[in-house]
Amino acid sequence: MDDIKFVFVPSIVNIEGVIVGLGIYSEESLALDKLKRKLSDNWSSGYKEAQLVMWTLNSDDSEAVPLKHMYAQVCPICDERTFWTDVVEMNALCYLPACQAWIEHSDIEEEKVDCGWPPIGFTAQVDSIDDALTSLRNYGAKIRASTLDDSDIFTHRTLLEEYEKSLEKDST
Ligand SMILES: [Zn+2]
Repeated sequence: MDDIKFVFVPSIVNIEGVIVGLGIYSEESLALDKLKRKLSDNWSSGYKEAQLVMWTLNSDDSEAVPLKHMYAQVCPICDERTFWTDVVEMNALCYLPACQAWIEHSDIEEEKVDCGWPPIGFTAQVDSIDDALTSLRNYGAKIRASTLDDSDIFTHRTLLEEYEKSLEKDST
């Protein structure tokens, strides 16, 4: 067995501001999977902040290396507080399963920002995070313009489907 040199420690901050540990992992991908699963399974639990840090074993480093530091924000599309923005890598993803709006720096063009909304297969490339938020908000506004007061997940899903159908009609 390879010697383990680093450990990966995910944690979240709950609605009362208390830090909740999610275990200690020998691989970053395992720690990240755990964190992501926790956020999507509990999207309505009001978690505010999440972190993933790396510690070096058998060293006297007093500080961990931050790999992710995420804050829950209001999603520009579904309006739930499920839009997790990572300030380390500067990207964002909505953890409401029916929404999953996202923002990421482009892999191909360094200065560009990509954003998207999987339910309708929408993606766009813009110049900044702010432009990406604006772009997504425009879609969110279209949906909310036709929404009822009820904002549960089934309503959102239905609205997304209806919106998708209306787009199909527009394009034929
Ligand atoms: Zn959303």
